[in-house]
Amino acid sequence: MIVTRFAPSPNGPLHLGHAWAAIVAHDLARARGGRFLLRIEDIDGERSRSALAAEFEADLDWLGLAWDGPVVHQSARLGAYAAAAERLKAMGLLYPCHCTRAEIAAVATATGPDGPVYPGTCRHRAVAPDGAAWRLDVAAAMARTGPLTWVDELAGEQQARPDLFGDVVLVRKDAPASYHLAATLDDAADGITLVTRGADLFAASHVHRLLQALLGLPVPTWHHHGLLVEADGHGQWRKLAKRRNAPALADRRRAGEDGHALADALRAAARGDRPFPAGISLAPVLHGEP
Ligand code: GLU
Repeated sequence: MIVTRFAPSPNGPLHLGHAWAAIVAHDLARARGGRFLLRIEDIDGERSRSALAAEFEADLDWLGLAWDGPVVHQSARLGAYAAAAERLKAMGLLYPCHCTRAEIAAVATATGPDGPVYPGTCRHRAVAPDGAAWRLDVAAAMARTGPLTWVDELAGEQQARPDLFGDVVLVRKDAPASYHLAATLDDAADGITLVTRGADLFAASHVHRLLQALLGLPVPTWHHHGLLVEADGHGQWRKLAKRRNAPALADRRRAGEDGHALADALRAAARGDRPFPAGISLAPVLHGEP
């Protein structure tokens, strides 16, 4: 049976872009008689606010998107993340690193999907593990697994290229897991068979596929959907973003707008049956772009 999930991070209110991500995950599950789960990615203790998670549930209700089973909170799973990190350490695949973002930016010679690619500065250095981040030695990991592939429903089969990111952080200095490690473990623990997320996270799936192979986890199929974009006022489109104050769903809900109608309007616009709300569009998916 197909199982999808919507996995928002409670570091700001949901906006229309999140609504679209939730609709895609929900509708794919419902169309195929599957399950749709809600997971709160609240690993980021300081920036996450639990009150926001309650708002997210109200937002989904308002949009008419019912999830199945209990809501999953990453903050309840820190032990599982730490255990997986220990396994990878025991395989000799993680190393500690104290480099700051600024230090990495100063020495990086390549740019990857997340910005400057970490050039491996600490890989062969004796670095005090206390208070360090732990990075995955991607070359050693790939040597161990051999070539890997994964399938995006829309883009087809992909050769896994986790090397595009350089040696990713799996255990953060300030949290027991990075997004990559936590999301991969959660998708396996929750029995997710179809990972749906925005095309902006397409490249992350290369890393997740590698982690699945290293940790012996089941391999789902992926569905990276197009992103809702807004006119930037200069003739270009840009991603809706919390930091630019995209209108919060919660505000629209409190103002009495009809959430079911909003969800249906987005569905109809995505099908091409009617225009998108003014100033909004759906960006084409750039398949395979890192
Ligand atoms: N927590 C991520 C976000 O809010 C979603 C990650 C995912 O779906 O894998 O963008």
